[in-house]
Amino acid sequence: AAAAAAPPRLILDLEALQHLDASEAGPLTRYAATIQAQRGDYNGKVLSIRQDDMRTLAVIYDESPTTLTERFISWGVLNPEAKGDVEEASE
Ligand code: C2E
Ligand code: C2E
Ligand code: C2E
Repeated sequence: AAAAAAPPRLILDLEALQHLDASEAGPLTRYAATIQAQRGDYNGKVLSIRQDDMRTLAVIYDESPTTLTERFISWGVLNPEAKGDVEEASE
């Protein structure tokens, strides 16, 4: 395995999130809105989230963190650099 390094950041694209089908993106949209409210961070186009938040979202979506990370990237709401990050830490 590679030496430990700062993990790539998890950055949500809040504009892309608004254009997704609510039936799939609803839980993620609500989760992001909650973090924004907790921070008082309403003006950003993007939102940096915690590694732990991807694990929480994986429970919500009943997916592995790896699968969910790839899905969010394919939706265009998560930066592609996030791939492999949660994956490496999941085992
Ligand atoms: P908290 O976890 O007790 O964090 C208190 C404050 O410490 C935060 O206030 C922020 O100023 C700072 N802080 C904590 N962790 C980090 C970090 O990784 N990076 C940076 N830049 N600052 C950090 P803030 O932002 O007003 O958040 C208030 C509370 O809202 C937090 O209390 C936490 O309970 C919740 N929260 C905010 N953002 C997130 C998030 O991305 N994920 C989760 N799970 N909770 C969050
Ligand atoms: P960066 O992390 O590459 O973020 C670039 C820009 O993306 C930020 O510019 C900001 O406009 C936006 N951005 C990223 N995450 C968030 C978010 O959660 N909420 C909002 N509203 N915008 C976000 P900005 O603010 O001028 O910051 C420039 C650089 O300063 C950042 O580059 C980062 O390297 C550093 N920085 C700013 N805030 C923090 C922080 O809370 N913690 C750490 N460690 N670095 C920070
Ligand atoms: P960041 O601010 O550059 O923080 C990078 C990492 O440093 C965080 O990764 C976390 O492992 C650690 N860290 C920074 N500040 C604190 C702190 O106050 N307490 C603890 N226990 N650890 C800290 P993480 O958690 O994956 O967060 C990634 C990014 O998400 C942060 O980058 C920041 O942009 C954002 N973020 C996370 N939590 C909060 C929060 O509570 N408030 C705000 N404003 N931003 C947050």
